Amino acid sequence: MEDRYGHRISYLRVSITDRCNERCHYCMPTEDQQWLPREEVLSYEEMLRVVRVGAELGISKIRVTGGEPLTRKNALSFISELKTIDGIEEVGISTNGTLLTRRAYPDSDQHYASALRQAGVDTVNISLDTLDREAYHKATGRDLLDQVVAGIQAAVAEGFDKVKLNAVLMRHRNEHEIWDLIEFAREQGCLLRFIELMPVSTSEVLSEENFMSTGEARKLIEFKYGALQPLPDFKTNGPASYYELPDTGQRIGFIGAMTNFHFCETCNKLRLTCDGKLRPCLGSHLEFDMRQVLREPDMTDEDVKRFFLNVVDSKPEQHDFRDQYQPNRRMIAIGG
Ligand code: SAM
Ligand code: SF4
Repeated sequence: MEDRYGHRISYLRVSITDRCNERCHYCMPTEDQQWLPREEVLSYEEMLRVVRVGAELGISKIRVTGGEPLTRKNALSFISELKTIDGIEEVGISTNGTLLTRRAYPDSDQHYASALRQAGVDTVNISLDTLDREAYHKATGRDLLDQVVAGIQAAVAEGFDKVKLNAVLMRHRNEHEIWDLIEFAREQGCLLRFIELMPVSTSEVLSEENFMSTGEARKLIEFKYGALQPLPDFKTNGPASYYELPDTGQRIGFIGAMTNFHFCETCNKLRLTCDGKLRPCLGSHLEFDMRQVLREPDMTDEDVKRFFLNVVDSKPEQHDFRDQYQPNRRMIAIGG
């Protein structure tokens, strides 16, 4: 599938729940914490149909996200089905990491990290903005840093193709921890990416006071480590730009949605929200109600395909975040 701007679509992010066991301020505003009613959330069968039809149209990579995907019941059996779909070559998950060392099944000691590996997951992205227990508690509303660190270690021990750590940059909150996060990622053998704060959930989050650009983070890193070497040919699935640190050769990624004007050029993604909206772009209000289509009794796969192609056709050239963007859906209900 290719849109009118030449974006080739091969990647679908599937949000399986809007629920979460944490309460990150930038993702779910405190004044708006109600969950979707069950019947509004797509069933796993419906999601698998979307993936199957998408795969026939060239989708080859899936990332399961949320909310916190591991809080939805039977997430593992859904995930294990993904790899059995013809055309799906890579499956990743984005998680806050808090549940990775928890028992995956009531009748076995196997933890989620191991069960995810067994279910065919290739890559795990774990959010980690701070290594300070108090700051973590404050930012996420939960005192779970130790569990997350144990989860990261468990994921690394499982030998996933990649374990990536994602840190959202926030001035005064974690700018003084950038070096520590780098050291931690190196010790754990994880690929670290720094992400610019986006006005996805509330526009207030993107205040002068909170925002820190990836360019500034790069400067801070260079101050300590020396000049970063750009790695234009090193790519993961997303829009991150990667650099290498001198001496150690450690790779660091930067996701600069707000300040990188080339950010959208190589976009290859669509997003399926857990209530069945197909979104062509994270930073645009465009969304199309696939649930209604899926739940119509006579709807054929050909109809679903046509729906997909129309959404691709509406994909904007670039996001609207720099254009007085007013959020209308919480990040937790989109799927990061
Ligand atoms: N619960 C999982 C997690 O925390 O990784 C998956 C869902 S979460 C919405 C996915 C990613 O979106 C996380 O890395 C989170 O830090 C990021 N995120 C949420 N709100 C954001 C915002 N306003 N700006 C930038 N990144 C954000
Ligand atoms: Fe939950 Fe992830 Fe959003 Fe934090 S960023 S509230 S962990 S979904």
